[in-house]
Amino acid sequence: MTSANAAYVKRDLAHVWHPCTQMKDHERLPPIPIRRGSGVWLEDFAGKRYLDAVSSWWVNLFGHANPRINAAVRAQLDSLEQVILAGFTHEPVIALSEELTALAPAGLSRCFYADNGSSAVEVAVKMSFHYWRNTGQPAKRRFITLANSYHGETLGALAVGNVELYKEIYRPLLMDVITVPSPDCYERAPGASWAEHSRAQFAHMEAALARHAHEAAAVIVEPLVQCAGGMRMYDPVYLSLLRAACDRHRVHLIADEIAVGFGRTGTLFACEQAGIRPDFMCLSKGLTGGYLPLSVVLTTEPVYAAFYDEYAKLTAFLHSHSFTGNPLGCAAARATLAIFREDDTLARNRALAAHLGARAVELEAHPHVAEVRQRGMIVAVEMVRDKARRVAYDWRERRGLTVYTHALSRGVLLRPVGNVVYFMPPYVITPEEIDLLVDVAREGIEAATCD
Ligand SMILES: *Cc1c(COP(=O)(O)O)cnc(C)c1O
Repeated sequence: MTSANAAYVKRDLAHVWHPCTQMKDHERLPPIPIRRGSGVWLEDFAGKRYLDAVSSWWVNLFGHANPRINAAVRAQLDSLEQVILAGFTHEPVIALSEELTALAPAGLSRCFYADNGSSAVEVAVKMSFHYWRNTGQPAKRRFITLANSYHGETLGALAVGNVELYKEIYRPLLMDVITVPSPDCYERAPGASWAEHSRAQFAHMEAALARHAHEAAAVIVEPLVQCAGGMRMYDPVYLSLLRAACDRHRVHLIADEIAVGFGRTGTLFACEQAGIRPDFMCLSKGLTGGYLPLSVVLTTEPVYAAFYDEYAKLTAFLHSHSFTGNPLGCAAARATLAIFREDDTLARNRALAAHLGARAVELEAHPHVAEVRQRGMIVAVEMVRDKARRVAYDWRERRGLTVYTHALSRGVLLRPVGNVVYFMPPYVITPEEIDLLVDVAREGIEAATCD
Protein backbone atom coordinates (compact mmCIF):
# COMPACT_ATOMS: atom_id res chain seq x y z
CA MET A 1 0.00 0.00 0.00
CA THR A 2 1.49 3.32 -1.04
CA SER A 3 1.58 6.16 1.46
CA ALA A 4 -0.94 8.21 -0.53
CA ASN A 5 -3.54 5.49 0.01
CA ALA A 6 -2.37 4.54 3.50
CA ALA A 7 -3.21 7.91 5.02
CA TYR A 8 -6.84 7.57 3.90
CA VAL A 9 -7.02 3.95 5.05
CA LYS A 10 -5.85 4.94 8.51
CA ARG A 11 -8.45 7.69 8.82
CA ASP A 12 -11.14 5.44 7.36
CA LEU A 13 -10.54 2.57 9.74
CA ALA A 14 -10.65 4.95 12.69
CA HIS A 15 -14.34 5.77 12.08
CA VAL A 16 -16.02 4.19 9.05
CA TRP A 17 -17.96 0.95 9.57
CA HIS A 18 -18.28 -0.59 6.10
CA PRO A 19 -21.38 -2.32 4.72
CA CYS A 20 -21.62 -6.10 4.42
CA THR A 21 -18.10 -6.44 5.87
CA GLN A 22 -16.37 -8.26 8.72
CA MET A 23 -14.23 -5.26 9.66
CA LYS A 24 -11.45 -7.54 10.96
CA ASP A 25 -10.81 -8.60 7.35
CA HIS A 26 -9.43 -5.11 6.80
CA GLU A 27 -6.40 -5.99 8.94
CA ARG A 28 -5.22 -8.08 5.98
CA LEU A 29 -7.02 -6.38 3.14
CA PRO A 30 -7.52 -2.64 3.68
CA PRO A 31 -10.29 -0.77 1.86
CA ILE A 32 -9.17 0.93 -1.34
CA PRO A 33 -9.60 4.71 -1.31
CA ILE A 34 -10.89 5.92 -4.66
CA ARG A 35 -9.96 9.38 -5.85
CA ARG A 36 -11.87 9.49 -9.11
CA GLY A 37 -13.82 7.49 -11.63
CA SER A 38 -14.07 7.74 -15.39
CA GLY A 39 -16.05 5.37 -17.58
CA VAL A 40 -15.50 1.80 -16.40
CA TRP A 41 -12.36 2.80 -14.49
CA LEU A 42 -11.81 3.72 -10.84
CA GLU A 43 -8.53 5.24 -9.70
CA ASP A 44 -6.96 5.20 -6.23
CA PHE A 45 -4.75 7.86 -4.64
CA ALA A 46 -1.59 6.22 -5.94
CA GLY A 47 -2.91 6.37 -9.51
CA LYS A 48 -3.64 2.64 -9.73
CA ARG A 49 -6.71 1.92 -11.85
CA TYR A 50 -9.40 -0.73 -11.41
CA LEU A 51 -11.88 -1.90 -14.05
CA ASP A 52 -15.27 -1.76 -12.29
CA ALA A 53 -16.64 -5.12 -13.50
CA VAL A 54 -19.44 -5.11 -10.89
CA SER A 55 -20.76 -1.64 -11.79
CA SER A 56 -20.17 -0.49 -8.20
CA TRP A 57 -22.64 -3.01 -6.74
CA TRP A 58 -24.81 -3.27 -9.88
CA VAL A 59 -25.83 0.37 -10.00
CA ASN A 60 -23.70 1.98 -12.69
CA LEU A 61 -24.89 1.77 -16.31
CA PHE A 62 -23.02 4.36 -18.37
CA GLY A 63 -19.72 4.72 -16.57
CA HIS A 64 -18.45 6.89 -13.76
CA ALA A 65 -18.49 10.66 -14.26
CA ASN A 66 -20.60 10.30 -17.38
CA PRO A 67 -20.59 13.75 -19.03
CA ARG A 68 -24.29 13.68 -19.94
CA ILE A 69 -25.53 12.60 -16.52
CA ASN A 70 -23.09 15.02 -14.86
CA ALA A 71 -24.49 17.89 -16.91
CA ALA A 72 -28.08 16.99 -16.04
CA VAL A 73 -27.36 16.79 -12.31
CA ARG A 74 -25.39 20.06 -12.41
CA ALA A 75 -28.18 21.86 -14.22
CA GLN A 76 -30.74 20.56 -11.71
CA LEU A 77 -28.50 21.59 -8.81
CA ASP A 78 -28.64 25.20 -9.94
CA SER A 79 -32.44 25.32 -9.79
CA LEU A 80 -33.68 22.95 -7.07
CA GLU A 81 -31.85 20.38 -4.93
CA GLN A 82 -34.75 19.03 -2.86
CA VAL A 83 -38.33 19.81 -1.94
CA ILE A 84 -40.95 18.02 0.11
CA LEU A 85 -43.02 15.79 -2.22
CA ALA A 86 -46.13 15.82 -0.02
CA GLY A 87 -48.27 18.78 -1.05
CA PHE A 88 -45.56 19.92 -3.49
CA THR A 89 -44.15 18.64 -6.74
CA HIS A 90 -41.43 19.45 -9.26
CA GLU A 91 -40.73 19.04 -12.95
CA PRO A 92 -38.11 16.25 -12.75
CA VAL A 93 -40.48 13.94 -10.84
CA ILE A 94 -43.41 14.71 -13.15
CA ALA A 95 -41.41 14.15 -16.33
CA LEU A 96 -39.70 11.02 -14.96
CA SER A 97 -43.09 9.53 -14.03
CA GLU A 98 -44.38 10.21 -17.55
CA GLU A 99 -41.31 8.56 -19.05
CA LEU A 100 -41.30 5.52 -16.76
CA THR A 101 -45.00 4.78 -17.21
CA ALA A 102 -44.55 5.02 -20.99
CA LEU A 103 -41.65 2.54 -20.91
CA ALA A 104 -42.98 0.07 -18.33
CA PRO A 105 -45.29 -2.84 -19.20
CA ALA A 106 -48.69 -1.38 -20.17
CA GLY A 107 -50.98 -0.75 -17.22
CA LEU A 108 -48.31 0.34 -14.74
CA SER A 109 -49.49 3.93 -14.66
CA ARG A 110 -48.75 5.07 -11.07
CA CYS A 111 -45.35 5.86 -9.54
CA PHE A 112 -44.61 5.90 -5.81
CA TYR A 113 -41.08 7.05 -4.98
CA ALA A 114 -38.61 6.13 -2.23
CA ASP A 115 -34.85 6.45 -1.94
CA ASN A 116 -33.32 2.96 -2.07
CA GLY A 117 -34.16 -0.55 -3.21
CA SER A 118 -35.11 -1.99 0.17
CA SER A 119 -37.54 0.89 0.78
CA ALA A 120 -39.17 0.20 -2.59
CA VAL A 121 -39.71 -3.41 -1.54
CA GLU A 122 -41.19 -2.22 1.77
CA VAL A 123 -43.54 0.06 -0.19
CA ALA A 124 -44.71 -2.76 -2.49
CA VAL A 125 -45.23 -5.15 0.44
CA LYS A 126 -47.16 -2.58 2.50
CA MET A 127 -49.22 -1.45 -0.50
CA SER A 128 -50.24 -4.99 -1.41
CA PHE A 129 -51.23 -5.79 2.19
CA HIS A 130 -53.10 -2.50 2.47
CA TYR A 131 -54.88 -3.00 -0.88
CA TRP A 132 -56.49 -6.20 0.39
CA ARG A 133 -57.52 -4.46 3.63
CA ASN A 134 -58.99 -1.53 1.73
CA THR A 135 -60.95 -3.89 -0.50
CA GLY A 136 -62.42 -5.86 2.40
CA GLN A 137 -60.14 -8.91 2.36
CA PRO A 138 -57.92 -8.39 5.43
CA ALA A 139 -57.09 -12.10 5.71
CA LYS A 140 -54.85 -11.72 2.65
CA ARG A 141 -51.71 -10.64 4.50
CA ARG A 142 -48.98 -13.20 3.84
CA PHE A 143 -46.24 -13.19 1.21
CA ILE A 144 -44.98 -15.97 -1.02
CA THR A 145 -41.31 -15.85 -1.92
CA LEU A 146 -38.74 -18.01 -3.72
CA ALA A 147 -35.90 -19.89 -2.08
CA ASN A 148 -32.56 -18.14 -2.71
CA SER A 149 -34.24 -14.78 -3.40
CA TYR A 150 -32.94 -11.40 -2.23
CA HIS A 151 -34.99 -8.26 -1.76
CA GLY A 152 -32.89 -6.03 0.51
CA GLU A 153 -31.86 -5.61 4.12
CA THR A 154 -34.58 -3.70 5.98
CA LEU A 155 -36.77 -5.99 8.09
CA GLY A 156 -39.68 -6.36 5.66
CA ALA A 157 -37.38 -6.79 2.66
CA LEU A 158 -35.20 -9.24 4.60
CA ALA A 159 -38.29 -11.24 5.58
CA VAL A 160 -39.42 -11.73 1.98
CA GLY A 161 -35.86 -12.57 0.88
CA ASN A 162 -34.23 -15.90 1.42
CA VAL A 163 -30.41 -15.74 1.41
CA GLU A 164 -29.58 -17.50 4.69
CA LEU A 165 -26.30 -15.66 5.21
CA TYR A 166 -28.10 -12.34 5.54
CA LYS A 167 -31.36 -13.56 7.06
CA GLU A 168 -30.70 -16.28 9.62
CA ILE A 169 -29.47 -14.12 12.54
CA TYR A 170 -32.44 -11.76 12.32
CA ARG A 171 -35.10 -14.41 11.92
CA PRO A 172 -36.70 -13.68 15.33
CA LEU A 173 -37.44 -10.14 14.10
CA LEU A 174 -39.00 -11.12 10.79
CA MET A 175 -42.54 -11.77 9.62
CA ASP A 176 -43.33 -15.31 8.62
CA VAL A 177 -43.42 -15.94 4.86
CA ILE A 178 -44.26 -18.86 2.58
CA THR A 179 -41.10 -20.03 0.80
CA VAL A 180 -41.30 -22.00 -2.43
CA PRO A 181 -38.42 -23.84 -4.18
CA SER A 182 -36.64 -21.73 -6.80
CA PRO A 183 -36.81 -22.28 -10.58
CA ASP A 184 -32.99 -21.85 -10.57
CA CYS A 185 -31.71 -23.74 -13.64
CA TYR A 186 -28.31 -24.58 -12.15
CA GLU A 187 -30.23 -27.30 -10.33
CA ARG A 188 -31.73 -28.80 -13.50
CA ALA A 189 -31.25 -32.47 -14.28
CA PRO A 190 -28.62 -33.33 -16.92
CA GLY A 191 -30.19 -33.01 -20.36
CA ALA A 192 -33.14 -30.89 -19.22
CA SER A 193 -33.57 -27.48 -20.87
CA TRP A 194 -33.95 -24.27 -18.85
CA ALA A 195 -37.57 -24.02 -19.93
CA GLU A 196 -38.33 -27.62 -18.96
CA HIS A 197 -36.76 -27.18 -15.54
CA SER A 198 -38.41 -23.84 -14.79
CA ARG A 199 -41.77 -25.17 -15.92
CA ALA A 200 -41.42 -28.28 -13.74
CA GLN A 201 -40.42 -26.17 -10.72
CA PHE A 202 -43.56 -24.12 -11.17
CA ALA A 203 -45.57 -27.03 -9.74
CA HIS A 204 -44.36 -25.98 -6.26
CA MET A 205 -45.62 -22.43 -6.80
CA GLU A 206 -48.95 -23.63 -8.14
CA ALA A 207 -49.38 -25.82 -5.06
CA ALA A 208 -48.46 -22.97 -2.69
CA LEU A 209 -50.92 -20.62 -4.40
CA ALA A 210 -53.71 -23.21 -4.32
CA ARG A 211 -53.09 -23.80 -0.63
CA HIS A 212 -52.51 -20.21 0.53
CA ALA A 213 -54.43 -17.94 -1.85
CA HIS A 214 -57.03 -17.12 0.81
CA GLU A 215 -54.30 -15.69 3.08
CA ALA A 216 -51.75 -14.53 0.47
CA ALA A 217 -51.36 -10.87 -0.48
CA ALA A 218 -48.62 -11.26 -3.08
CA VAL A 219 -45.87 -13.34 -4.61
CA ILE A 220 -42.56 -11.48 -4.85
CA VAL A 221 -39.85 -12.51 -7.32
CA GLU A 222 -36.66 -11.25 -8.95
CA PRO A 223 -37.49 -11.73 -12.64
CA LEU A 224 -35.06 -14.08 -14.50
CA VAL A 225 -31.94 -13.67 -12.29
CA GLN A 226 -31.55 -14.18 -8.53
CA CYS A 227 -28.56 -11.88 -8.31
CA ALA A 228 -27.48 -11.82 -4.66
CA GLY A 229 -28.32 -15.52 -4.50
CA GLY A 230 -25.35 -16.22 -6.79
CA MET A 231 -26.62 -14.96 -10.17
CA ARG A 232 -28.85 -18.03 -10.46
CA MET A 233 -31.04 -17.80 -13.58
CA TYR A 234 -34.32 -19.22 -14.81
CA ASP A 235 -36.49 -19.27 -17.89
CA PRO A 236 -39.12 -16.60 -18.70
CA VAL A 237 -41.77 -19.31 -18.94
CA TYR A 238 -41.82 -19.34 -15.12
CA LEU A 239 -42.95 -15.70 -15.08
CA SER A 240 -45.68 -16.35 -17.66
CA LEU A 241 -47.01 -19.25 -15.60
CA LEU A 242 -46.73 -17.17 -12.42
CA ARG A 243 -48.69 -14.24 -13.89
CA ALA A 244 -51.50 -16.55 -15.00
CA ALA A 245 -51.60 -18.35 -11.65
CA CYS A 246 -51.60 -15.10 -9.63
CA ASP A 247 -54.58 -13.93 -11.71
CA ARG A 248 -56.38 -17.22 -11.23
CA HIS A 249 -55.81 -17.20 -7.45
CA ARG A 250 -56.29 -13.45 -7.02
CA VAL A 251 -52.86 -12.80 -5.56
CA HIS A 252 -50.64 -9.81 -6.46
CA LEU A 253 -47.36 -10.25 -8.31
CA ILE A 254 -44.47 -8.04 -7.18
CA ALA A 255 -41.55 -7.91 -9.65
CA ASP A 256 -38.37 -6.77 -7.93
CA GLU A 257 -36.43 -5.42 -10.93
CA ILE A 258 -34.04 -3.46 -8.72
CA ALA A 259 -31.01 -5.36 -10.05
CA VAL A 260 -32.30 -6.68 -13.39
CA GLY A 261 -34.13 -3.58 -14.63
CA PHE A 262 -32.69 -1.07 -17.12
CA GLY A 263 -31.30 -3.41 -19.72
CA ARG A 264 -29.32 -5.84 -17.58
CA THR A 265 -31.03 -8.94 -18.97
CA GLY A 266 -31.23 -7.72 -22.57
CA THR A 267 -34.62 -6.00 -22.45
CA LEU A 268 -35.32 -2.74 -20.65
CA PHE A 269 -37.25 -4.68 -17.99
CA ALA A 270 -36.80 -8.41 -17.45
CA CYS A 271 -40.59 -8.97 -17.26
CA GLU A 272 -40.82 -8.06 -20.95
CA GLN A 273 -39.18 -11.39 -21.87
CA ALA A 274 -42.25 -13.16 -20.49
CA GLY A 275 -44.65 -10.58 -21.88
CA ILE A 276 -46.13 -9.99 -18.44
CA ARG A 277 -47.21 -7.01 -16.37
CA PRO A 278 -46.70 -7.33 -12.61
CA ASP A 279 -49.02 -5.54 -10.15
CA PHE A 280 -46.01 -3.84 -8.58
CA MET A 281 -42.61 -3.26 -10.18
CA CYS A 282 -39.74 -2.10 -7.94
CA LEU A 283 -36.89 -0.14 -9.53
CA SER A 284 -33.71 1.40 -8.11
CA LYS A 285 -29.95 0.84 -8.68
CA GLY A 286 -29.63 1.60 -12.44
CA LEU A 287 -32.60 3.97 -12.28
CA THR A 288 -30.28 6.96 -11.82
CA GLY A 289 -27.48 5.41 -13.89
CA GLY A 290 -25.98 4.54 -10.51
CA TYR A 291 -25.57 8.18 -9.54
CA LEU A 292 -27.92 8.88 -6.66
CA PRO A 293 -30.15 6.95 -4.28
CA LEU A 294 -33.64 6.84 -5.75
CA SER A 295 -36.26 4.13 -6.11
CA VAL A 296 -39.78 3.82 -7.39
CA VAL A 297 -42.66 1.35 -7.25
CA LEU A 298 -44.87 1.32 -10.32
CA THR A 299 -48.38 0.02 -9.91
CA THR A 300 -51.78 -0.13 -11.62
CA GLU A 301 -54.93 2.02 -11.67
CA PRO A 302 -56.95 -0.61 -9.71
CA VAL A 303 -54.39 -0.54 -6.88
CA TYR A 304 -54.30 3.26 -6.90
CA ALA A 305 -58.10 3.41 -6.89
CA ALA A 306 -58.32 1.19 -3.80
CA PHE A 307 -56.58 3.91 -1.77
CA TYR A 308 -58.48 6.86 -3.28
CA ASP A 309 -61.29 8.06 -1.00
CA GLU A 310 -62.36 10.65 1.57
CA TYR A 311 -59.56 11.27 4.11
CA ALA A 312 -61.68 10.18 7.08
CA LYS A 313 -62.06 6.69 5.60
CA LEU A 314 -58.32 6.27 6.41
CA THR A 315 -57.56 4.35 3.25
CA ALA A 316 -54.63 6.54 2.17
CA PHE A 317 -51.11 5.17 1.86
CA LEU A 318 -49.48 7.17 4.66
CA HIS A 319 -45.92 6.12 3.88
CA SER A 320 -43.02 8.49 3.20
CA HIS A 321 -39.27 8.94 3.20
CA SER A 322 -37.60 12.31 3.64
CA PHE A 323 -35.89 12.22 0.27
CA THR A 324 -38.76 10.66 -1.68
CA GLY A 325 -38.51 11.67 -5.35
CA ASN A 326 -35.43 13.83 -4.87
CA PRO A 327 -35.06 16.22 -7.85
CA LEU A 328 -31.33 15.53 -8.35
CA GLY A 329 -32.02 11.79 -8.48
CA CYS A 330 -34.91 12.32 -10.89
CA ALA A 331 -32.70 14.49 -13.13
CA ALA A 332 -30.03 11.75 -13.19
CA ALA A 333 -32.74 9.19 -14.01
CA ARG A 334 -34.08 11.27 -16.90
CA ALA A 335 -30.55 11.71 -18.29
CA THR A 336 -30.09 7.92 -18.01
CA LEU A 337 -33.31 7.24 -19.94
CA ALA A 338 -32.22 9.79 -22.56
CA ILE A 339 -29.01 7.83 -23.13
CA PHE A 340 -31.01 4.63 -23.68
CA ARG A 341 -33.07 6.46 -26.32
CA GLU A 342 -30.34 8.42 -28.06
CA ASP A 343 -27.67 5.70 -28.16
CA ASP A 344 -29.98 2.72 -28.77
CA THR A 345 -28.30 1.09 -25.78
CA LEU A 346 -30.27 -2.16 -25.90
CA ALA A 347 -29.12 -2.82 -29.48
CA ARG A 348 -25.48 -1.91 -28.66
CA ASN A 349 -25.60 -4.18 -25.61
CA ARG A 350 -26.58 -7.15 -27.76
CA ALA A 351 -23.20 -7.02 -29.49
CA LEU A 352 -21.34 -6.49 -26.21
CA ALA A 353 -23.23 -9.31 -24.49
CA ALA A 354 -22.44 -11.63 -27.41
CA HIS A 355 -18.72 -10.86 -27.05
CA LEU A 356 -18.85 -11.22 -23.26
CA GLY A 357 -20.63 -14.56 -23.54
CA ALA A 358 -18.32 -15.90 -26.25
CA ARG A 359 -15.24 -15.08 -24.19
CA ALA A 360 -16.63 -16.16 -20.81
CA VAL A 361 -17.80 -19.54 -22.09
CA GLU A 362 -14.11 -20.46 -22.57
CA LEU A 363 -13.93 -20.67 -18.77
CA GLU A 364 -16.31 -23.63 -18.83
CA ALA A 365 -13.40 -25.88 -19.85
CA HIS A 366 -11.76 -25.29 -16.46
CA PRO A 367 -11.74 -28.40 -14.21
CA HIS A 368 -13.28 -26.42 -11.32
CA VAL A 369 -15.96 -24.55 -13.28
CA ALA A 370 -19.33 -26.32 -13.33
CA GLU A 371 -21.20 -23.77 -15.42
CA VAL A 372 -20.95 -20.45 -17.22
CA ARG A 373 -24.38 -18.88 -17.57
CA GLN A 374 -25.57 -15.66 -19.11
CA ARG A 375 -28.60 -13.45 -19.37
CA GLY A 376 -27.79 -10.31 -21.35
CA MET A 377 -25.16 -8.23 -19.56
CA ILE A 378 -24.87 -10.63 -16.63
CA VAL A 379 -22.47 -13.57 -16.86
CA ALA A 380 -21.77 -15.92 -13.95
CA VAL A 381 -19.12 -18.60 -13.50
CA GLU A 382 -19.81 -21.29 -10.91
CA MET A 383 -16.63 -22.57 -9.20
CA VAL A 384 -16.97 -26.04 -7.69
CA ARG A 385 -14.82 -28.59 -5.86
CA ASP A 386 -16.07 -31.50 -7.97
CA LYS A 387 -17.13 -30.65 -11.50
CA ALA A 388 -18.65 -34.02 -12.44
CA ARG A 389 -20.88 -34.17 -9.36
CA ARG A 390 -21.31 -30.41 -8.95
CA VAL A 391 -20.10 -30.42 -5.35
CA ALA A 392 -19.68 -26.86 -4.06
CA TYR A 393 -16.64 -25.61 -2.18
CA ASP A 394 -17.22 -25.09 1.55
CA TRP A 395 -18.05 -21.39 2.10
CA ARG A 396 -15.49 -21.23 4.93
CA GLU A 397 -12.70 -21.67 2.38
CA ARG A 398 -13.60 -18.29 0.88
CA ARG A 399 -12.41 -19.21 -2.61
CA GLY A 400 -14.13 -16.15 -4.04
CA LEU A 401 -11.94 -13.93 -1.89
CA THR A 402 -8.84 -15.32 -3.64
CA VAL A 403 -10.38 -14.34 -6.99
CA TYR A 404 -11.13 -10.90 -5.57
CA THR A 405 -7.59 -10.26 -4.31
CA HIS A 406 -5.98 -11.61 -7.46
CA ALA A 407 -8.19 -9.44 -9.65
CA LEU A 408 -7.37 -6.34 -7.59
CA SER A 409 -3.66 -6.99 -8.06
CA ARG A 410 -4.36 -7.00 -11.82
CA GLY A 411 -6.46 -3.85 -11.73
CA VAL A 412 -9.92 -5.42 -11.99
CA LEU A 413 -12.75 -5.17 -9.47
CA LEU A 414 -14.45 -8.57 -9.39
CA ARG A 415 -16.44 -9.33 -6.26
CA PRO A 416 -17.63 -12.95 -6.32
CA VAL A 417 -20.80 -13.93 -4.46
CA GLY A 418 -19.57 -16.99 -2.56
CA ASN A 419 -18.15 -19.37 -5.19
CA VAL A 420 -19.75 -17.52 -8.09
CA VAL A 421 -17.51 -15.21 -10.10
CA TYR A 422 -19.62 -12.87 -12.16
CA PHE A 423 -19.37 -10.01 -14.64
CA MET A 424 -21.93 -7.22 -14.54
CA PRO A 425 -20.03 -4.34 -16.17
CA PRO A 426 -21.21 -0.85 -17.10
CA TYR A 427 -22.58 -0.73 -20.65
CA VAL A 428 -19.72 1.53 -21.79
CA ILE A 429 -17.19 -1.30 -21.49
CA THR A 430 -15.25 -2.06 -24.69
CA PRO A 431 -14.59 -5.52 -26.20
CA GLU A 432 -10.89 -5.14 -25.27
CA GLU A 433 -11.82 -4.40 -21.66
CA ILE A 434 -14.08 -7.46 -21.68
CA ASP A 435 -11.11 -9.53 -22.83
CA LEU A 436 -9.02 -8.21 -19.95
CA LEU A 437 -11.70 -8.99 -17.46
CA VAL A 438 -12.18 -12.56 -18.66
CA ASP A 439 -8.40 -13.16 -18.68
CA VAL A 440 -8.08 -11.85 -15.13
CA ALA A 441 -11.05 -13.95 -13.99
CA ARG A 442 -9.42 -17.05 -15.48
CA GLU A 443 -6.18 -16.36 -13.58
CA GLY A 444 -8.17 -15.66 -10.40
CA ILE A 445 -10.11 -18.93 -10.71
CA GLU A 446 -6.79 -20.71 -11.34
CA ALA A 447 -5.34 -19.20 -8.16
CA ALA A 448 -8.47 -19.98 -6.14
CA THR A 449 -8.76 -23.64 -7.18
CA CYS A 450 -5.14 -24.81 -7.54
CA ASP A 451 -5.02 -26.86 -4.30
C1 LIG B 1 -29.89 -4.48 -4.24
C2 LIG B 1 -31.22 -5.12 -4.24
C3 LIG B 1 -32.23 -4.71 -3.35
C4 LIG B 1 -31.99 -3.69 -2.26
O1 LIG B 1 -31.64 -2.44 -2.73
P1 LIG B 1 -30.85 -1.43 -1.75
O2 LIG B 1 -30.81 -0.15 -2.50
O3 LIG B 1 -29.49 -2.05 -1.57
O4 LIG B 1 -31.62 -1.36 -0.49
C5 LIG B 1 -33.46 -5.29 -3.47
N1 LIG B 1 -33.72 -6.22 -4.40
C6 LIG B 1 -32.79 -6.65 -5.27
C7 LIG B 1 -33.15 -7.66 -6.30
C8 LIG B 1 -31.50 -6.13 -5.19
O5 LIG B 1 -30.54 -6.60 -6.02
